[in-house]
Amino acid sequence: MPLLYQPRIFKPYPTVRAGVTLRSVSAKDPFGNNMSLTVGDNQPRVEANRKHAAAALGFTQMATQRQVHGANCRVVAEGYAPADSDALITDQPGWLLAVSVADCIPILLFAQRRNVVAAVHSGWRGSQQNIAGTAIAQMVQNYGVAPDELVAYIGPAASQCCYEVGNDVALQFPGCHSRPIGEGKFLFDNKGVVLAQLLAAGVPPKQIELDPRCTICDSNFHSYRRDGARSGRMFGLIGMVR
Ligand SMILES: [Zn+2]
Repeated sequence: MPLLYQPRIFKPYPTVRAGVTLRSVSAKDPFGNNMSLTVGDNQPRVEANRKHAAAALGFTQMATQRQVHGANCRVVAEGYAPADSDALITDQPGWLLAVSVADCIPILLFAQRRNVVAAVHSGWRGSQQNIAGTAIAQMVQNYGVAPDELVAYIGPAASQCCYEVGNDVALQFPGCHSRPIGEGKFLFDNKGVVLAQLLAAGVPPKQIELDPRCTICDSNFHSYRRDGARSGRMFGLIGMVR
């Protein structure tokens, strides 16, 4: 079994391949099946993990980026080189788009008529800047995508059961996305924020899969909150095969 969850929502579309890599819990070290080259893990092993995940989905070419918790979206095409961004978009088959996460949300999008895919990284800072909505706006602007054709997956991430934040974060999100649990402490529902953003952008509710799993309390996932500096990263992955 590859260490990969493939979202149900994309199953009806044979050209689309998507997944979220899982943490290998059988390995003794917390870096099991880690996808990041910048957390102190062994480089050849990380390269092998990445190659294995790409191959499991049918790809040999992967686009990564240098994530900065911003709202910059980049188009991936021939000659693409990683730069500072937090979302990748392509209409080119053969590219597997990768976002790196451990508690932040991987959001995967597919426009079923225009054949465009996007992978978005949204921690609370990305959500505060509505990077999901920005990525969708770029899909509309660059490719003529209609929001009602979008199929979306909101992946495993720090969830409201465990994601404790302070006033500084909670006050950024009006509405009911933060549940108070004591003096200046809240449990924050980042997935709920992103879900609201997708709906506001025009994605139909029945075309959204929201993964209920929490990276902090489910050891099948890497979690920075749980494991700190010894935490690996997962990849959220989406692409179209030729
Ligand atoms: Zn939890």
